[in-house]
This record gives sequence, C-alpha cells and structure tokens, in this order.
Amino acid sequence: MARQVVVGGGIVGLAVAHEVQRTHPGDHLVVLEKEGAWATHQTGRNSGVIHSGLYYPPGSAKAALCRTGAQALIEFAQAESIPYAVCGKLVVATSPEEVPRLRALAERGRANGLAVRQLSAEAAREFESHVNAVAALHVPETGIIDYPAVCRALAARLAGAGADLRLGERVVGAVPRGAGIGIRTAGGDRIDADRVVVCAGLQSDLVARRLGHRPSARIVPFRGEYYTLRPAAAALVRGLIYPVPDPEFPFLGVHLTRGIEGGVHAGPNAVLALAREGYSWSRLSPRDLGPILAFPGTWRLARRHWRSGATELARSMSRRRFAASLRRLVPDLEDGDLMPAPAGVRAQALRPDGGLVDDFLIESAGPVTFVLNAPSPAATAAFAIARRIVADLRD
Ligand SMILES: Cc1cc2nc3c(=O)[nH]c(=O)nc-3n(C[C@H](O)[C@H](O)[C@H](O)COP(=O)(O)OP(=O)(O)OC[C@H]3O[C@@H](n4cnc5c(N)ncnc54)[C@H](O)[C@@H]3O)c2cc1C
Repeated sequence: MARQVVVGGGIVGLAVAHEVQRTHPGDHLVVLEKEGAWATHQTGRNSGVIHSGLYYPPGSAKAALCRTGAQALIEFAQAESIPYAVCGKLVVATSPEEVPRLRALAERGRANGLAVRQLSAEAAREFESHVNAVAALHVPETGIIDYPAVCRALAARLAGAGADLRLGERVVGAVPRGAGIGIRTAGGDRIDADRVVVCAGLQSDLVARRLGHRPSARIVPFRGEYYTLRPAAAALVRGLIYPVPDPEFPFLGVHLTRGIEGGVHAGPNAVLALAREGYSWSRLSPRDLGPILAFPGTWRLARRHWRSGATELARSMSRRRFAASLRRLVPDLEDGDLMPAPAGVRAQALRPDGGLVDDFLIESAGPVTFVLNAPSPAATAAFAIARRIVADLRD
C-alpha cells in the first residue's frame, strides 16, 4: 500500500486527490491544506466561469485540458447535483479596429473544436439587448458554476472513501526518507509519503523550494478586483459579455458575468498585489514583496508592460474609470451601479527573462510533483490536469 500526499485544498489539489483515490483505491491518501476551509484562495475567489477553450494556442495543454476538463467538471456536477449552466458567452468588438482580432479569435476557437459563430451588431443584440458592439462572437460552450461547491463535494467524496483530510495543516519543509519523503508541517508533524503532489497555488514556488526543488519560474501575484452590479442594473446583462482581449496581455480584460447564484460580477482587473494573498492595497507583505522585487523577471516584465500596468493601476484606484471600461461593453451602466465585491489574486508564474509562463507548468523531482503554474482556466481544467498528473506518477 503506497502512501500519497496532496498539498493544497483548492480545486486542483482536491481533483488530484480524487483521481488518486479513483485510480489507486488501496493507497493511503492524505490531503494537507493550510487554511480552515477548502477553496479559500483562487478557487473560491474567481469568476465562476466554465471556460470553453477559446483563447489558448491549439496544441497547448491549456487548450486540450480545458475542453476535456470542462466535460469532466460538468459530469461531476451532474453526479453531485451541483448547479451549473452552459449558457454561452459573447465576445464583443466595440470598434472597427478590434474586428480583425475578433476574427482571429474565432479561427482559434474553431481550431480548438468550438462551435463559435461570428455575429453582426444586430445579431449580438438578440443575445444581449444592451450591448455595444460593431461585431461579436458567440461561444455556446461557455458555462458557469460554483467552484467552492465543487470542492466541498470533492472533499465529501474523499472523506467518504477514507482519505485523511487535514485542514489547518501548513507544509513547511521535508526530510528525505529512502525513495520517498517525509513532509513536515507547521504543527510539528512528519507525514511519510511515497509520492507527493504539491498544488499550492499562490505559494507553489515557495513550497517547492521548501521541499528542496528549484522551480524554473517564480509566482507573481496579480490581484483581480471585482464589483457587483446593483440589482436594477443587473437587468442590463443577461449572460457573459467579454471584450476582445489584448494579445500582449495574459488577462482577458474586465468583463461582465452573471454568476450561477444570479448576480452580475464586473471585473476582474489585474494589478500587482503587494502580498501573495494580498486581497487589497492595504495588505502588504515585505516578506512576499522583497523577493518579487529582487527577481530580475519582475523588472523585465514591468519594462515591457508599463503602459498597460499604469492603466490598470489608475482603474484600480477609481470606480469611475472601472465603470468607464464597462460602459464600452454596456453603455447604459452608471458609476453608481457598481458595488465593491471581494477580490481574488491570480498566481501567475514568471520566468527570469520576464516572460509570463503562458501554459500550465508541472515539474517533478524524485517522488514529488509540483504544479507551478495553474492560472485560468485551471479551475475549468482541474479534473483533466489531475488525470494527466496522476497518469504520470511513477509506480
Ligand atoms: C480573479 C480570478 C478569476 C478567475 N476566474 C476563473 C474562471 O472564471 N474560470 C476558471 O477556470 N479559472 C479562473 N481563475 C483561475 C482559477 O481560479 C485557478 O486556476 C484555480 O483556482 C487554481 O486552483 P489551485 O487549486 O491550483 O489553487 P488555489 O485555489 O489557490 O489553491 C491552492 C491551495 O493551496 C494551499 N496552500 C498553499 N500553501 C500551502 C502550504 N504550505 N501547506 C498547505 N496548503 C497550502 C492554499 O491555502 C490554497 O487553498 C480565476 C482566478 C482568479 C484569481
């Protein structure tokens, strides 16, 4: 009987644990999560969108795992009676200059197997009567779901099948133990394991170092701030409305998404957070920030993207600017329609040359597998990421 440990109780860690349990039912399985609840960080602070796979280069892990992961996620939701909806989304070009990029996006979507349709402005308004568009794409495969509910159901299944689930257990280091490894926790425990998978999100590079691995990239935390639309203004948005993304920028641009609970979320923007778990400007951690500022990649990234960084910063400081960005999509929205909502922080891996790691990044060292870059659409893709990781685990 092998002993397996998963570090991290976000959707990727729980999906990996679930896959270990499915494929190695006789193994002893332990899940270690430092917080007191599942899905406390990225998984519980995201847009709740089941992505279609529209944006990712064909052949990339993101493109492949997003499609198969979405399918597996939906099957899990059906089996567990978790509410979800495959409601489709609109990507709208708001000026003629954006139309060539919209067409290129449609081609990419088709190359990824999606039933994307290009729409005229009039046809777009049949989906979203208040939208401002010169042209649009309709992507029928996009959906919405409650990711924390998915995590709670995963945890319940794991516990039901005998996994040892430990909340409030922070991994702080490791000691070698023959061909395996002894995982040390902040509480002073040592958990011996034959195999370990680390899915620590915003802390993933840090935990990798503590376990003796030098990762090829470093995590930079990008906060995504949200507003919620006032109920009266929420009627202006039926489903999901996205701008044409800037190809130079790894994020999608502020958008409007109706959540599965019924409200409309506006955002997220993307600003450098001052702590790994820096959910507001007031949360600053010199211990987190020092190494990020000392990393040459950060400055190379800043030189490359200073203009969009400055725009994002200004928008973060001003609800008026935030609302103005949204008015490009839905002109009837007013500044006062936006109510502040909790932010999320994305774990984005950055290389020393300042290049953002575009695809999922997984590295292994001896008995340990490290998930080092699992940004969007990793919540959508989690079940497929888990299958790939567990299939590659050495026996
Ligand atoms: C603003 C925002 C919007 C997004 N929107 C979407 C979307 O709509 N659709 C989509 O598919 N994706 C979206 N994403 C991306 C998605 O949320 C993430 O890709 C996904 O949640 C990553 O899951 P994870 O399990 O790797 O990370 P996390 O959910 O961050 O989980 C990592 C866990 O590891 C734990 N941990 C860290 N260090 C330790 C330690 N030392 N010991 C024990 N435990 C530890 C943490 O406490 C945490 O619970 C969004 C992300 C953000 C931030």
